[in-house]
Amino acid sequence: MRPLYFDYAATTPVDDRVAKAMTDCLTFNGNFANPASRSHALGWLAEEAVEEARNDVADLLGADSREIVWTSGATESNNLAIKGVADNYAPEACHIITTSIEHKAVIDPVKHLHSKGYQTTFVAPGSNGQVSVESIAAEITDKTRLISVMAVNNETGVINPIAEIGKLCEQKGIFFHVDAAQAVGKIAVNVDEWKVTLLSLSAHKFYGPKGIGALYVRRRSPLELSAQIHGGGHERGMRSGTLATHQIVGIGTAAAILNEGFSDEHDRIEALKERLWSGIETLGDVIINGKGSPISAGHLNVCFKGLDGEALMMGVRNLAISSGSACTSATVEPSFVLKAMGCSDEDAHSSLRISLGRFTTESDVDQAIASFSQAVNALRSAK
Ligand SMILES: *Cc1c(COP(=O)(O)O)cnc(C)c1O
Repeated sequence: MRPLYFDYAATTPVDDRVAKAMTDCLTFNGNFANPASRSHALGWLAEEAVEEARNDVADLLGADSREIVWTSGATESNNLAIKGVADNYAPEACHIITTSIEHKAVIDPVKHLHSKGYQTTFVAPGSNGQVSVESIAAEITDKTRLISVMAVNNETGVINPIAEIGKLCEQKGIFFHVDAAQAVGKIAVNVDEWKVTLLSLSAHKFYGPKGIGALYVRRRSPLELSAQIHGGGHERGMRSGTLATHQIVGIGTAAAILNEGFSDEHDRIEALKERLWSGIETLGDVIINGKGSPISAGHLNVCFKGLDGEALMMGVRNLAISSGSACTSATVEPSFVLKAMGCSDEDAHSSLRISLGRFTTESDVDQAIASFSQAVNALRSAK
């Protein structure tokens, strides 16, 4: 049987409206041409679709369309942002601050730069999972060139005080990068209110296809971003490669849907999560990881005290959920995010991430509560 989907933080299905728009850009009778073909009307048509998508994504962020660079996803956007800033400095003249709870797509590029001689600092969150502006401020030196902080953590859903950190960066004249992959479509994202220089997003986290994302690059900024992929000079030289019209139309349509407003969807998902938590809470000995912080509507990261998370997952096989971070689940290491929050190995191993989204129904939630009740009670009575 197909499991009920509770893993929207790992990826989302493509919205039907998005799939339809993408399909129209693939075949001979569709909008298939190379958007860089300037010599004929089919090229212009493809370019028009790409630019419409660029406007829709820019609108979603409160940005100018000239500030949007297409990439293959948030991993590439993060690499381009971080390495693209660092390349402008000698390693010994460049200090980078990030946090210990970033996605690996930020942590690994920063570690890579560290191995090349750059100075790097990984700031830990509080026990509530949130990174404070004070803890960032305390690490700034006269060589700090870049600060990178995620808006919403992918494991806990905890929302960081991005606008405050942005203000600090502006005051100090430091470039500010935000990984907003988990934020877009869930909380209001505005590049001016957040005072960001660079911002990463990924379509497959907001009902668009995998394999397409964008990097917002501020125009009125002293920043000269160094390209990481060289080729035909596409995207004003910042990211070469033939533009994938269908993918770009996909992210654009997903953005356009959000531009119609997502507060109703947000409230509906939040209410479903409350319903789910009420059901789980009655089982006792459960806590929310990130408690005390603002948390994104779709995220519920629960520690089932004293129970083995893997065993619990086996007990709720009718649910597609995630233990720790989906991206590190190949290893049995406890989640580094929960560990950074001060969680014990045992509590980290007892934690599961349940995430809800656009297609979650009340009936899904009620079935999930029933499954958790049964599995938790079975594990407890087997003790
Ligand atoms: C999913 C995710 C990424 C990676 O995005 P891809 O488009 O899959 O490369 C990066 N950061 C965060 C916070 C994410 O949730």
